[in-house]
Formats: sequence, C-alpha cells, structure tokens
Amino acid sequence: MKFDRVKPPSNGEKISFHGGKLQVPQNPVIPYIEGDGVGPDIMKAARRVFDSAVAKAYGGRRKIIWFEIFAGEKANNSCGEYLPKDTLEAIENYVVAIKGPLTTPVGGGYRSLNVTIRQELDLYACVRPVRYFKGVPSPLKHPEKLNVVIFRENTEDVYVGNEWEAGTGEAKTIIEYLNTKFGTKIREASGIGIKPMSEFATKRLMRKAIKYAIEEGRNSITIMHKGNIMKYTEGAFREWAYEVAREEFPGLKIIIKDRIADSMFQQILTRPDEYDIIVAPNLNGDYISDACAAQVGGLGIAPGANMGDFVALFEATHGTAPKYANQDKVNPGSLILSGVMMFDYIGLKEASKIIIDAFQETILQKKVTYDLARQMEGAVELKTSEFASAIIENMS
Ligand code: NAP
Repeated sequence: MKFDRVKPPSNGEKISFHGGKLQVPQNPVIPYIEGDGVGPDIMKAARRVFDSAVAKAYGGRRKIIWFEIFAGEKANNSCGEYLPKDTLEAIENYVVAIKGPLTTPVGGGYRSLNVTIRQELDLYACVRPVRYFKGVPSPLKHPEKLNVVIFRENTEDVYVGNEWEAGTGEAKTIIEYLNTKFGTKIREASGIGIKPMSEFATKRLMRKAIKYAIEEGRNSITIMHKGNIMKYTEGAFREWAYEVAREEFPGLKIIIKDRIADSMFQQILTRPDEYDIIVAPNLNGDYISDACAAQVGGLGIAPGANMGDFVALFEATHGTAPKYANQDKVNPGSLILSGVMMFDYIGLKEASKIIIDAFQETILQKKVTYDLARQMEGAVELKTSEFASAIIENMS
C-alpha cells in the first residue's frame, strides 16, 4: 500500500484477517492519531504504558510498532486537510488503530471528524465497557456492581443528520407531503428529523454483541429500546435483535432479554448487577453509555472503540479539553483503557491484565491526576506523564 504523505514503518507486520479471524503478528504495526488539545499529552503517556506492558508480558518477543497518522489540527497544519485520505486508508489497511480526541472545526461545512471517520469506514458499533475501579469516587454505594459492555449502533437513528430546519422549503415540502398523503397532523412550522432504523444495521450490531458475549463468557444481553412508543423503529430493533439470536445462534446459552429505555435507566441504578451486555440504537446508546460511566465515577476514564466487522478504532471518549492542552495535566485513563480494549481485541490479554492491575493499584495508592484528586481525600496529584510513570512502576 502506498500513501501520499505518511511513511509506514519499515519494520513490523500488518494485522490482517483470514477466514473470519484476526491474524496478529508478533510485531504488529498499529497506526495512531495523536489528536488535538490534550491529545498529544495523553497519547505520549498512554504509549509508554502500552510499550511497558507489552515488554513486561512478552519479554521482548512481541512489540508494537507505532505508525503515526494524522487528523485534526496537526493534519490541517501540515497538508491543509483535517482528515487526509491517507489516514482513512491506513486505518482500513492496518485493521486496528487508536486515536486521541479531535476538535470539530467550528464554522460552515465541517462535519465532525469522528463522525466522518465512523461513516467512511463503516464502523457501525460503538463499544463502551463500563466497570468500576476500586478507589474511584462514585455517587453510588455499590459502584462495583456495575460491569457492562454497551454496543451502540453507530450509523442510523436520529443521529444520521437527516433533518431540516423549521420554515425551510425542505421541511415545508416534507410536512405538506405527509399531511396530505398520509393524514398526519404535523404543525406547519416544525423542524423535521428522520429516524431510520434497518434490519441490516440492527442485525449486524446484535450479531457482533452475541459473538463478543460468547467469546468473553458473558451471561446476558439486554436489548434496550423504546418500542412501546416507536413501534416500527425501536420496536423493530427489538424484534430484529431477537431474531438474530433465535435464527443464527440456536442453542445459545446466553440470556437474551429486553428493556424499555426509561425503565432501563431506573434499573441500571437500582439493580446494576442484572445487566451485562447492552445492545442499543444510537440515541439510547449514547445516553446509557454516559449514564453508566457516571455511575462508576468514570466519565474521565471511560474507554471506547468504534468497530466494523474487523476494522476497529479505539479512542479516548472525552473531547480535546482545550483549556488543558500541553499542560501535562489531564487524566490519560480513557485512552489507556481504550488501549486495554485494543490489546484484548488483538489477543494480547497478558498485556491488558498487567495494565489493568497496575492502573487499579495506582488509584488505590491515591496517585491520580487532578480530576480524581479533587474528589479524593489524601490524594497525591500527579501530572499526566507522572501518572503514566506510576502505572508503569506498579506493573508486575
Ligand atoms: P471535553 O473536551 O471532553 O472537556 C470537557 C471537560 O471534561 C474538561 O473541561 C474537563 O473537565 C473534563 N475532561 C475531559 N477530558 C479529560 C481528561 N482526560 N482528564 C480529566 N478531565 C477531562 O468536552 P468539550 O469541551 O465539550 O469539547 C472540546 C472539543 O472536543 C470540541 O471540539 C469537541 O467537538 C471535541 N470532542 C471530541 C471528541 C472525540 O474526539 N471523540 C469527543 C467529544 C468532544 P474540568 O474542566 O471539570 O476539569
């Protein structure tokens, strides 16, 4: 593969997939996007943690070969484009990549870079594991009871951007068409948004969640929906999801259940241990991901990934926090834990475990960045780079 502006490393090998399985070499090349704002600080810290864990786990037999690719301000400054073609091609070609947060340029005509990447590479599942780390300040009495993985649909629902402002010709035309043709009673000066949900997109998401649940030995999958009100979108989502389980996984030993979205928000608080994998349409999935992360006090340390059938882009879930840029201040936890997801995905589970254990130990020692320090009594406030060093020192 030839790139216009970036040069892949000369050592290392590509991750690929054959026969429905990822093939991971000993020295995989992993492209990374540093990101804007706090991105460079957290990426530098996280990569030190990743390299140390791999060295510790495999004693030099394995090594990540990093390949920097560009998006956001750094890309724009060097080539006048926020999302160069090379970047998308590298992620697709090297199958697995990791990124820091990206600024959405303010001003006309720019789509969010994150949304563009997801759409261009058809990364249809947003996967967000949420678990508790002992010692993290949480609003709950028993935050440890929550341990879920949310599979949020990434390509449909009211998020696709098919919407028109009230009073525009488009909105008026649609309203008039619906009111005259189908007898709807939509007020004339309404804004209009379309909520598409398809069997195809629902089923591939559910299929991915079931495969994950099987591989990871999880107990249940809950389909989260508002199908009692929106029968042909959210209700259909529920039916299609059940259908995949019934028809494609006969004899499945995992409980499949469903919950109406509002009740789900109550129960995730009152009975969190009854939930395991959650499969949700785009909007519900967005809300429940942050609600769950908040329950365990982990909004700033919540990891995530956007995944297609094989291609996966792991990312910090927070934004660029511009006021803290280049201060070596913020928590690199979200990106570090996204790296843990990435290592799990490519089968470097020994390295993942080393990071998780060391991360937990560091928090128990109350060595944390400002965001956690301000909520913890007796904490030692560390810089981003010092926090990474503390994690590395705690690796055993
Ligand atoms: P943000 O960057 O997430 O920051 C909001 C606040 O969250 C920060 O001021 C800080 O809180 C806290 N925070 C975020 N990251 C943190 C970290 N690593 N450690 C500790 N605290 C952290 O949200 P925003 O200000 O709304 O968005 C800024 C830019 O990021 C926008 O351009 C937006 O489009 C972009 N964005 C990108 C992504 C992405 O790339 N995936 C996601 C969301 C937003 P305190 O002020 O309380 O300390």
